[in-house]
Amino acid sequence: MAKVKIAVNGYGTIGKRVADAIRAQDDMEVVGVSKTKPNYEAQVAHYLGYDIYCPAENIGAFEKAGMPAAGTIEEMLEKSDLVVDCTPGGIGEKNKPLYEKVGLKAIWQGGESHPIAGFSFNAASNYQQAIGRDIVRVVSCNTTGLCRVISTIDKALGVNKVRASLARRAVDPNNIKKGPVDAIVLDPVKLPSHHGPDVRSVLPHINITTAALKVPTTEMHIHIVNMQVDKDCTAEDIKKIFSSESRIRFVGNGITATSEIMETTRDVKRSRSDVWENCIWPESIAVSDREFTFFQAIHQEAVTIPENIDAIRAMAELETDGAKSIEKTNKALGLSNWPL
Ligand code: NAD
Repeated sequence: MAKVKIAVNGYGTIGKRVADAIRAQDDMEVVGVSKTKPNYEAQVAHYLGYDIYCPAENIGAFEKAGMPAAGTIEEMLEKSDLVVDCTPGGIGEKNKPLYEKVGLKAIWQGGESHPIAGFSFNAASNYQQAIGRDIVRVVSCNTTGLCRVISTIDKALGVNKVRASLARRAVDPNNIKKGPVDAIVLDPVKLPSHHGPDVRSVLPHINITTAALKVPTTEMHIHIVNMQVDKDCTAEDIKKIFSSESRIRFVGNGITATSEIMETTRDVKRSRSDVWENCIWPESIAVSDREFTFFQAIHQEAVTIPENIDAIRAMAELETDGAKSIEKTNKALGLSNWPL
């Protein structure tokens, strides 16, 4: 079967990971990646052998920088079956008419709001509903992390209510322009934070409220999640349910910090030390009546990457069984290859 041809528009934190993840699959291929300017990230894309496409007015600049572009962004779109838009939040919406002009299927990221596609995706929660769709939004890192645990528990026990507090990494490691460096920022002051309503864009029946803080770190968010469920359960039951979900990993062996998780993934030589799974501390699961609380860590740069691959597979109708797509994506990325 011919591979589905994918354009990656925007080669930054998410785009470079999506491009590599597509390359790891056997049923899809990268037509090219786009860069606006010939900076260090474009140099890496060139080194890794990606065809680079850029705005028409910058073709000369790429040529001069020794990394000739393969064409314009419009030309990249014309050669593709589907585009994954990984441009900064707000730019994706401006790109929508470009995709409509070529009649291209499109995926946007969580920096765009739900109405851009009218359908927000999380593989564990609503893969079936994405099959054959033309436009899809893959929800943000925090929302992905929350949807995975909520839908897993909802299927097993029924979720009545969720209350979650989020300590968010302030910026990505390469972002030198933003802070805070020495503060904890209410994000935002007015509650709830946008994460609760965003979870409802995927799981509309869930009663959820969230509050978020920005903390001066660059790797991983920590969530304190509290769920009320419809059935009696023990901490052992919750562990068993979580352990049935392949994109949830337990963290143990004395790890008490996000930095220790990142150190482990560097040590085992995961690509870019990416953590594609939710990391839950099983020891933290505390049950009281039909209510429980736990800690999880979410690697913001990585957690949505497998979701983008599954969204492509559903939209292109390469696989109608969500569980099979998840398994295929996981295997190609190497999710199980982590000795924790
Ligand atoms: P980023 O700034 O790291 O990368 C964006 C890239 O797009 C940059 O290379 C930039 O040069 C390029 N770009 C800008 N304008 C462009 C245009 N008009 N055409 C083509 N390329 C253009 O951003 P990011 O962190 O990768 O975020 C991308 C999307 O993913 C956003 O919607 C964001 O909210 C979402 N997201 C980010 C994270 C994260 O933690 N970084 C996590 C989940 C989702």
